[in-house]
Amino acid sequence: MTGSIAAVGASVIVVGEAGAANAQQNTETHTRTSGTVYTGDVIQGRKVVSRVDVADLEPGKKHLLYFQGVQMPGGQQWYVSVIVAKGIRPGKRFTLTSGVHGDEISSIRTVQTVMDQLDPVQMSGTVMAVLDVARPAVESMQRRWPNSGRGAGLIDMNREWPGDENGASATSRHAGLLFNRLLRPNSDLAIDFHTGTTGLEIAAFNIGDRSRPDVKAMMDLYPIGQMWDNAAYPGVLHNAFVDVGIPCFTTEIGAARILDREMIALFVEGTMNVLKHYGVVSGPIGRTATDAGAFIGNNAFPIIATEAGLVEFLVKLDDEVKAGQKIAVQRNMFGEVVAEYTTAVDGKMAGCRSDATSDPGNVLAFILFSQPGPAGQHGSAHADSESSYPE
Ligand SMILES: [Zn+2]
Repeated sequence: MTGSIAAVGASVIVVGEAGAANAQQNTETHTRTSGTVYTGDVIQGRKVVSRVDVADLEPGKKHLLYFQGVQMPGGQQWYVSVIVAKGIRPGKRFTLTSGVHGDEISSIRTVQTVMDQLDPVQMSGTVMAVLDVARPAVESMQRRWPNSGRGAGLIDMNREWPGDENGASATSRHAGLLFNRLLRPNSDLAIDFHTGTTGLEIAAFNIGDRSRPDVKAMMDLYPIGQMWDNAAYPGVLHNAFVDVGIPCFTTEIGAARILDREMIALFVEGTMNVLKHYGVVSGPIGRTATDAGAFIGNNAFPIIATEAGLVEFLVKLDDEVKAGQKIAVQRNMFGEVVAEYTTAVDGKMAGCRSDATSDPGNVLAFILFSQPGPAGQHGSAHADSESSYPE
């Protein structure tokens, strides 16, 4: 049964007589493989689309659209907010995504601010912003997508890319619809904007595969203090782009749940630098990673809680630390020290737990470092588990 559902997938529409004509039209538009498809719906004055081809859109303008994502149990869809700034001259097509995690609000504001600064009449090429990618996670200010599944569950959308339109969860299907009908067909280059997550604050940094020239060029145009040279992590959006030949990396803009105006300004400046570098907008390049003295690491050392209790850090984000240095102590409810945590590597503090208590097993911190170091006392030197990959 599952097999037959998967085989027919999105093209199946079950209707009564009254809906037949409408279904016919929906089937036609749904199965078209090129061109912008308007569903005919208008929400809050914005046209709804189920496929976008930026080549169809009028140049010299900003287009505000709702992209029709996956269906909800009640039958309506999750709509994703899309802004396309289409220049009057041909040029590179950039895609800026935010909200893949729903509690990372500075990422959304960074992309909004960049879009505010664009004047399509002066531009060459196109910049497309997709602002609230995991829409239900944004609605509930949480990292993961609430899924009805077998009772309520939470799915990390940034482990689902490139998605599957006939996948086994709404999250996978939503990712597939966005990737196939919006993101991939309209991108020459892309940037996926993130922040730390609830409970774990992180420094300003970029993650990407610096062996790829365009990825390195883009990452280095940000005036921020840290760069993590990281080739691959399965299922994340920037790697799905890279896998189909679209250079992309991930930004990290401080803490979740807040608007960090200072940090947002750094990432707006960096993104405008990127758009200038590729000739989409004109003007002098601003401050870059060189000006910020960025530290480049190729690995992240996680500190994992061995005990439960209150965590007190002895260092701050961006501090330089040396192997053997104590970075945090943990106390029980009597105030007795139950654990002391040290770094096994020389590096920079890139992430610190912001909730002051912790269960055992949580990532308390991670340290960006530039050489392969010894395995730590609390786990692998590679930040390659679900809990310690920081985006
Ligand atoms: Zn994220």
